Amino acid sequence: MAKFNVYTGDPVGGAVPTAAQLGFEPPRFCAECGRRMVVQVRPDGWSAKCSRHGEQDSKDHEDRR
Ligand SMILES: [Zn+2]
Repeated sequence: MAKFNVYTGDPVGGAVPTAAQLGFEPPRFCAECGRRMVVQVRPDGWSAKCSRHGEQDSKDHEDRR
């Protein structure tokens, strides 16, 4: 379960930007630990890496849309 807002790093419950809800905005913070992730934006999406919890990719989120 996500504990932190991946866009703000705040505890879950804050507002998520509309662009982020649609999957266009890369997450900047790890949902598990709230650490700032290393984000790489590509023409076709993004990847974000937490030093503890590994990498996420926009491809992993496409089936949610
Ligand atoms: Zn993490």
